[in-house]
Amino acid sequence: MTRHGAGGGVRRPGARAAIVCALAAALLTGCAQSVDPIERMGRKAAQKVRRPDPPPAAGAPAPDVHRRWGLAAPLAPAPRPHRVLAARAPGTVPPVIDHVPTRDKVVFLTFDDGAERDPRFVDMVRELRLPISMFLADSAAATGYDHFGQLRRLGAQVENHSLTHPFLPGRGYVDQHAEICGQQTRLKSRFGAAPRLFRPPYGDYDADTLRAAGDCGIDAIVLWRASMQINDLRYADGDRLRPGDIILAHFRGPAELKGTTLTEMTSRMLRRVQEQGFTVARLEDYV
Ligand SMILES: [Zn+2]
Repeated sequence: MTRHGAGGGVRRPGARAAIVCALAAALLTGCAQSVDPIERMGRKAAQKVRRPDPPPAAGAPAPDVHRRWGLAAPLAPAPRPHRVLAARAPGTVPPVIDHVPTRDKVVFLTFDDGAERDPRFVDMVRELRLPISMFLADSAAATGYDHFGQLRRLGAQVENHSLTHPFLPGRGYVDQHAEICGQQTRLKSRFGAAPRLFRPPYGDYDADTLRAAGDCGIDAIVLWRASMQINDLRYADGDRLRPGDIILAHFRGPAELKGTTLTEMTSRMLRRVQEQGFTVARLEDYV
């Protein structure tokens, strides 16, 4: 179907809003080799892991903990963030971003959908103090909100990825408003705060998406400029990361990653980031 699905990204350029920012990244296939988690949801039982949440530890990670997660060196602390998103003027739609304008050698990790709930990933986020943003679709993540709540208590941010993960362009304002606002309501009632960011399924949107997102209280539409495959990053253009890149990854497990676990995939992603002299920062600290 489209980007998050099993095939390449067939796009409908006519559905695009004219106000798109430069979005070569939207041409990336974030998930070309995998089964769409949405499709397998019916098969996958909720893997609820009920353990007490340890409090987020303060300060730097324990020495050598990076080795446990396959990293040669600790993740460098992110530089002091600077806000880049201006307040939206009344009557305007949210901006579409695929990167953050910054000279800092930082990139931002985003994980989509929510079908895979690997308890080891909670350990990884806690031990590495990993800042991540989670774009949750209710149809994929709903049975795992306890799991994502654990991650949220470790500092992971919960963001909106629609109720049912449809291809939005052409569906009209009312439908899109229901998809976006519906998930705002679900996430707010579950986690106590409504998301500020929205990622349209497959990275596809039209003018109604932007208008509906704005009316639902969304501050920015978040796409990506690099995407993590099973082993390597794929870039929107060029062959390496650039400062401020937003990286797309998915909550996926061995069934979709040819035997690779979510933590192994994340470890590879972090190595690619470190090899290029970057570290990871929290997207919400900048936008
Ligand atoms: Zn998705």
